[in-house]
Amino acid sequence: MKNLLFTRREFLKTTGTVSAFAWFGIKPTAKARRIIDCHLHIKHAGRDLPATIAHIEGLGCEKAMLLPLEDIAGGVFLTTDEVLEAYRQYPQRVIPFCHVDLRRDDFERRIRAYVAAGCRGYGEQKQQIPLNDPRIVRMLEIISEYGWPCTFHFQDGPKGFNQGIEQYLEPLLKQFPRVKFIGHAQSWWSHISADVPPPNVSLYPKGKVKRGGLLDRLLADYENIYGDLSAGSGYNSLARDEKFAAGFLRRHRKKLLFASDCPCHDGKGANWKGGCIGVKTIELLERIADAKTRDDIFYNNAARLLGLA
Ligand SMILES: [Zn+2]
Ligand SMILES: [Zn+2]
Repeated sequence: MKNLLFTRREFLKTTGTVSAFAWFGIKPTAKARRIIDCHLHIKHAGRDLPATIAHIEGLGCEKAMLLPLEDIAGGVFLTTDEVLEAYRQYPQRVIPFCHVDLRRDDFERRIRAYVAAGCRGYGEQKQQIPLNDPRIVRMLEIISEYGWPCTFHFQDGPKGFNQGIEQYLEPLLKQFPRVKFIGHAQSWWSHISADVPPPNVSLYPKGKVKRGGLLDRLLADYENIYGDLSAGSGYNSLARDEKFAAGFLRRHRKKLLFASDCPCHDGKGANWKGGCIGVKTIELLERIADAKTRDDIFYNNAARLLGLA
């Protein structure tokens, strides 16, 4: 305030209602936004646990699903025990997931031990194992007993992960109705469009979305499939065609989850070129999604999925 001699009316005109309310000691009635980040890793690009918690808080999230990844092929090596230790230190902020290396013979015993230790879901499954591999099917059989969510990194191509989304995902959705599948990453989000370039041409297709994509069909037809909007792939799938994205978000508002998968150190862009991907995704959702859709995507769907609501 430069000049305290404003009349009240001039003051309101100048500053807008919200700060005027604050000035006159009246609290605005708008409720605070609640957010759960559905995809985050400790040790992502070397980020330690305190900076990971700072990311959750800096981005304005109540909690985050912390996803271990027990295979360095996925780019981060983070064990379920490390995630459980984070949960012990920050129980209000951390929702612990479990991931075990499916190439090891003892994975069934280990998953069951992590259920007993307090994990709430499985993933991130990001190993160079195709989606129709019997070990993936066995893992789904086990977690189906617990009705767990399961986050998959879908990336086609020879160096990819869970390859074969187009052929193999739908049969798995039918076979495991109790598993809450969460789709993520390049080949998942490429299928927002009916036009999907081969993975060696582009994993981040740009430009207008062609209607009739696999995601529109699966999200509409199956109760047990969700999408996490994290990383460059999630952001790009909406930003490439905002007009299409606005309708997509509305149609599937009960099936989409806010998530960042961001490695920055404070939820504001520190230590990461290009800034915080979570901030960019929140800004985009604020611009193109209505308030009810945003409430579902930011919080309600994750709370329902995890039984927090
Ligand atoms: Zn991830
Ligand atoms: Zn960030």
